[in-house]
Amino acid sequence: MICETTKKGVDCLFMSKQGCSYKDNTCKPVVEQCTGCEKAQEFAGGTYCAAYPEPALKWKTGKCNFATHIKREAKKEKVINALKASKRKAKGR
Ligand code: SF4
Repeated sequence: MICETTKKGVDCLFMSKQGCSYKDNTCKPVVEQCTGCEKAQEFAGGTYCAAYPEPALKWKTGKCNFATHIKREAKKEKVINALKASKRKAKGR
């Protein structure tokens, strides 16, 4: 439903006919780590995340997975073909 409180005009899962159903009936402002993210948007009451109601929780255990301003490091693991590895081991290579 479209928010009519803190982030007016944003489609939000927490908005209901009774109002905002999130904690304390409002979203929480962005945190320092959100600086530069495209999802951090200015609203009448401050800067809020367009994708998540409480940005501090997104950063609590690591990097926010919705963030647009950070690059994720791709895991480069060598894919090992188990069958080939087994044959190699059997040949003694
Ligand atoms: S998507 Fe993540 S980094 Fe971006 S504003 Fe929202 S909580 Fe902050």
